[in-house]
Amino acid sequence: MNRKRRVVLLGSTGSIGTSAMKVAHDLPDEIEIVALAAHRNVEKLAEQARQTGARHVAIYDPSKESELRALLPKGTRILTGPHGLTEIATLADADTVLVSIVGTAGLHPALAAIQAGKDLAVASKEILVMAGEIITAAAEKHAVDILPIDSEHNAIFQCLDGHRGGENEISRLILTASGGPFRQLPAADLENVTPAQALNHPTWDMGPKITIDSATLFNKGLEMIEARWLFGIGMDRIDVVVHPQSIVHSMVEFTDGSTLAQLSRTDMCFPIQYALTWPRRLKGSLQPLDFPTLAKLEFEAPRTRDFPALDLARRAGLAGGTLPSVFNAANEIAVDAFRAGNLSFPGIWQCVAHTMDAHQIQPSSTLESIVTADHWARQQAAGFCRTAAASI
Ligand code: MG
Repeated sequence: MNRKRRVVLLGSTGSIGTSAMKVAHDLPDEIEIVALAAHRNVEKLAEQARQTGARHVAIYDPSKESELRALLPKGTRILTGPHGLTEIATLADADTVLVSIVGTAGLHPALAAIQAGKDLAVASKEILVMAGEIITAAAEKHAVDILPIDSEHNAIFQCLDGHRGGENEISRLILTASGGPFRQLPAADLENVTPAQALNHPTWDMGPKITIDSATLFNKGLEMIEARWLFGIGMDRIDVVVHPQSIVHSMVEFTDGSTLAQLSRTDMCFPIQYALTWPRRLKGSLQPLDFPTLAKLEFEAPRTRDFPALDLARRAGLAGGTLPSVFNAANEIAVDAFRAGNLSFPGIWQCVAHTMDAHQIQPSSTLESIVTADHWARQQAAGFCRTAAASI
């Protein structure tokens, strides 16, 4: 008999964390949530702790500790700050750590979890984009699995039946992209796109940062770099195809000319459930596709000239070292500036290109060198955004 998978949820109150709670609730004999961590949403975190009976709860913002304590059953252990995240990621009574923290705060806890022998379910793109080399090497050394939660990578993981590598059999990984809300917008009109328009995603309901990234195609760029590390495939064999219906979540083209695809509804519970039950497939509450009601599935080439994020990602992934961190950090700053009305929509990739051009690439052999490059890129990008704001 299989023992329950005992899961730590880092980022439990966000969009992925909420879906993971639903998957665990659907499969109570398979998945047990033993610990939860959130940034500052005390009420939702306390509610989740009551639902799951989690005995360890971390709140990143230490000023929220007493408010949280008042809402939790007596005897619940409460941790705070970055140290609290790392401690909760290395608990003796957990097998798997699911990381879905926006930004770079998940890096250290993810590495610590691997070093403590935990399988890592990765939803935070930053972990593999910034530290893919370190994370995959550590996973190999400690013989733990890295389970992708991002829908595209989970689709590829399913097509490969969980096997990493297979260099000789795989000819290409093909990531699908919805194309976002501006897929058909003339290039000249991109200049006038507003944050409200960019936040209106056609197929997926997600957090604001990733929704803007879907509109610019930076999300797909980050995913190209993620795929490079997750599957040990060169950037030259990672392609993107636009698929507006978001039903085919990604594909693997094999050397014999066959292509396998994974299809399902647009619900993050699908990849989360597969990651947490792998290598098994179990019946939860997720509904299969109803093919006769799907009008059509379309595919088209991405507009790489009008949306330069994919080419910038390829450049960052090929160069490696600290450049992917710079690509990621500059984009984060540019998205914030765009949302605040201080940068145009095309200004986002102009900011990233400018910051990448100014960067002296270093080897990314330690988390410290990666974090240093991240800080540098944020300052550099903020300078670009200030200059741009002055001219709006
Ligand atoms: Mg994705």
